[in-house]
Amino acid sequence: MTALSAKIQDVFDEPACDKNRGKDAKARKEGCARPLTPGAAAGGCAFDGAKIVLQPITDVAHLVHAPLACEGNSWDNRGAASSGPTLWRTSFTTDLTEFDVVMGRGERKLFKAIRQITETYAPAAVFVYSTCVTALIGDDIEAVCKRAAEKFGLAVVPVNAPGLAGSKNLGNKLAAEALLDHVIGTVEPDDAGPYDINILGEFNLCGEFWLVKPLLDRLGIRVRACIPGDARYRDVASGHSARAAMVVCSTALITLARKMEERWGIPFFEGSFYGISDTSEALRRIAKLLVRKGADPEILDRAETLIAEQEAVAWKKLEAYRPRLQGKRVLLNTGGVKSWSVVHALMEIGMEIVGTSVKKSTPEDKVRIQQMLKDDNHMFEQMSARDLYAILSGGKADIMLSGGRTQFVALKAKTPWLDINQERQHPYAGYDGMVELVRQIDLAIHNPIWRQVRERPPWDCQPDGKHQLPSANNDTATTRAVQNFAATTRTISAVEEIL
Ligand code: SF4
Repeated sequence: MTALSAKIQDVFDEPACDKNRGKDAKARKEGCARPLTPGAAAGGCAFDGAKIVLQPITDVAHLVHAPLACEGNSWDNRGAASSGPTLWRTSFTTDLTEFDVVMGRGERKLFKAIRQITETYAPAAVFVYSTCVTALIGDDIEAVCKRAAEKFGLAVVPVNAPGLAGSKNLGNKLAAEALLDHVIGTVEPDDAGPYDINILGEFNLCGEFWLVKPLLDRLGIRVRACIPGDARYRDVASGHSARAAMVVCSTALITLARKMEERWGIPFFEGSFYGISDTSEALRRIAKLLVRKGADPEILDRAETLIAEQEAVAWKKLEAYRPRLQGKRVLLNTGGVKSWSVVHALMEIGMEIVGTSVKKSTPEDKVRIQQMLKDDNHMFEQMSARDLYAILSGGKADIMLSGGRTQFVALKAKTPWLDINQERQHPYAGYDGMVELVRQIDLAIHNPIWRQVRERPPWDCQPDGKHQLPSANNDTATTRAVQNFAATTRTISAVEEIL
């Protein structure tokens, strides 16, 4: 068995994953990825998944060993934010050509590229990504990285997740393996303390972790490593010194958390910063884990005081939206943001949930959603675009919250839509993030554009096909459009008469 397939088998056998625990040995061996449907959009490849997890480490040069096209992967549409270095946003690729492949010059080109990056940019480290072509021609990126690290005196990390290995999710896990094998534990911090934690699977989309970090700061809790959002190489490398960890996106990095617990005794829990009660619960559980690892128990009281204060402020702000949103119906079709937290928070301000996807929810989340909605029919694993359209065009929801892929279903059904997945434009984490989410829902639902687009077009205004002329007290956009149209028609008729 090659090293890569052994690694893949290893990450598929995840005892910390509930779904995996429920499988028999044969199903576990087959892995988590579903077989792809020919002709359907397949999502990202394993390389793409690895890049998503590692790219937000901001002071690292990310070098893709591949023909040029692989660098056009989707990591950049996720909107992770950096508070400092910008190197991570520079694309580096060895740009292999057919000539390089035929002449067997891949490894030499890779070594030269690492040298050039090191001399020009002085990065904290270089991450080298293998891809389909370089895996197929058998380039030994591990050996090249090792040689380059010795020669240039900096960390050069091979990321062995070629696209052909499998799905994006597998790539997430292989990226974590690269961190475990080559990065975490390589730097000993001289300031380790009893209040150090790691946050795993937090991508700092739109800078939303910056809405949470001040809360931790107030409790005296230091984020040793946030992997990967706004991370620095040195922080990740010293992540093994943390006392506790929270896993935000468990699908991507649960294996990393479990292995860090086994290797360095860092206990972890799965939590979420989406929604008021989940943010409070996350703060509580972080404090409890730190106490378990030797922190002063008084942090528990301080956490409760902070939670009470922040919840009161957030609910006061949300109360202003209650009259505007009470009874409005929401369709949630999301994979990334935890459905449970959002469902809970929206229901708390009086909104009605007409349906929510539970595709990426944990079994506990599903139970909690079930208890809140009291009807299984409101939960769905996956809904086709046709079914979504039927719900929305039938007027059964006032807004859909989803990812960008289904936005056009909502727009075609002339229904307000808000992006809450990775391409979103607004931060939704923490107490302030929840207020921002509700503010954005309010803006979307009450945007005057919906009234305009739902009006009948001018050519539909009268059954005999004649255009409806404006009435004196009607100032709608339709009327303006009819006026313009009629004026244009008159002008054309006049021109025709002259001709
Ligand atoms: S790694 Fe393979 S599947 Fe992924 S972008 Fe490159 S060629 Fe395509």
